[in-house]
Amino acid sequence: MKIRIMKLVVSSVILLPLLLAHSFQANAELTNIGSPKAGIDVKYPDNLNDTWKTPISNGISAWNGTATKVTIGYLSSSTNSITAAQYSDTWYGLNTQWKSPYKYTIQLNARTIARDATNFSNFVKGTTVHEFGHCFFLKDNPNTTLASIMKYTNNFNTVTTPQQYDINDVNSVY
Ligand SMILES: [Zn+2]
Repeated sequence: MKIRIMKLVVSSVILLPLLLAHSFQANAELTNIGSPKAGIDVKYPDNLNDTWKTPISNGISAWNGTATKVTIGYLSSSTNSITAAQYSDTWYGLNTQWKSPYKYTIQLNARTIARDATNFSNFVKGTTVHEFGHCFFLKDNPNTTLASIMKYTNNFNTVTTPQQYDINDVNSVY
């Protein structure tokens, strides 16, 4: 009898943090891959011209300025990269991530961005913010009526920063 009570006490202690963690993330739409740490680095895109580098840096600053624990810093020895080139694909940006060790590459599509941008620097910034969102477990096209940088309906000519919905999701992870 004593042993049974002991077991119940032990199991409820273990279950309680799990339940709390679960309910805390109830409204979040997250992917199963992202940086295990809130602080990530990326190699500075030396090969790009300032037309690209400036809005990419502005996108990084937009994440660094949020009320979250996430930070993105340039690091010359980083194995993570962001680049831009002409790709025949339909996407504006592509984030490819690997697990253990965690690593990512972000590719921006100069072809589709140049085609659809009326404000080029905004478009690059917004796409950059969206792609880095994937590093922080944010999912494409979340099912919400709230504004999100991850929505496919975004117009990156005008929407260029992490939205409150995105910030809440990131804060549910880190
Ligand atoms: Zn995406």
